[in-house]
Amino acid sequence: MYLEKLKLDGRVAVVTGGGQGIGAACAQALGEAGAKVVIAEVVPERAQACAAALVGQGLDVESVALDVTKSASVDAVAAKVAEDHGRIDILVNNAGVARSDVRAEDTSDAHWRFHMEVNVDGLFWCCRAFGRQMLAQGSGSIVNIGSMSGLIVNKPQPQSFYNASKAAVHHLTRSLAAEWGARGVRVNAVAPTYIETPLTSFGIKENPEMYKVWLDMTPMGRVGQPEEIASVVHFLASDAASLVTGAIVVADGGYTCW
Ligand code: NDP
Repeated sequence: MYLEKLKLDGRVAVVTGGGQGIGAACAQALGEAGAKVVIAEVVPERAQACAAALVGQGLDVESVALDVTKSASVDAVAAKVAEDHGRIDILVNNAGVARSDVRAEDTSDAHWRFHMEVNVDGLFWCCRAFGRQMLAQGSGSIVNIGSMSGLIVNKPQPQSFYNASKAAVHHLTRSLAAEWGARGVRVNAVAPTYIETPLTSFGIKENPEMYKVWLDMTPMGRVGQPEEIASVVHFLASDAASLVTGAIVVADGGYTCW
């Protein structure tokens, strides 16, 4: 009974920015659980390569080019996935950017807008477009990738634009959960600590002093791996989380305890 609830057979899932990092791990986790997965990614070759690798493992995965900041493209991809597969059950809003280590006083308009357009605007366009389909079906599960940066202020790198964008993701998550809860659509977020992906290579690989601070500030004394976030996403996407909506699930190795 309990294991059955984690199965996703017959479900259709979309993962934005799923060509690498956390998104690629989410695509694999959902695919292994039985879902048909569509990787929607701004770098099409990356998405195709990731999808091909997962198909090679026997999973049902395809890719589509999508820049989440273009609302008309988001609408078109949502319509196409619904037309091709008849339904959309799961949306993982993973696409996000972090060009960190820029002080607030040095942040240009373009740098601020870039983060807001991908992390907040794009995420909302996806919730709206894919959410409409889920509301029409009367069921669906949206998992937004937030961040511990939406709860705390990172040290030592300044990144006010990113932190603000992720706090917005968290409150948007709660707002949509409240609006759509009675109509069968659950909306949750995961708030990860530092995860070893290309996005964090500026600290993990290129800046040993910064990396040391990150580890010192983490009770578990390590960063996370993409699959450790993908398992939380899998749970939230599945019927095992049937009572969970509006939650910000922190997966941070204890970072926010101190
Ligand atoms: P990566 O940069 O490794 O992967 C993100 C993918 O999304 C990239 O392929 C990226 O392409 C793509 N992408 C960027 N912009 C868009 C867009 N407009 N439309 C569609 N796809 C896009 O990042 P991570 O896997 O590390 O992060 C995934 C999510 O997790 C992000 O939302 C991030 O903020 C969040 N997160 C990550 C943490 C970490 O420590 N890694 C910690 C907390 C949260 P491109 O390379 O061109 O940018």
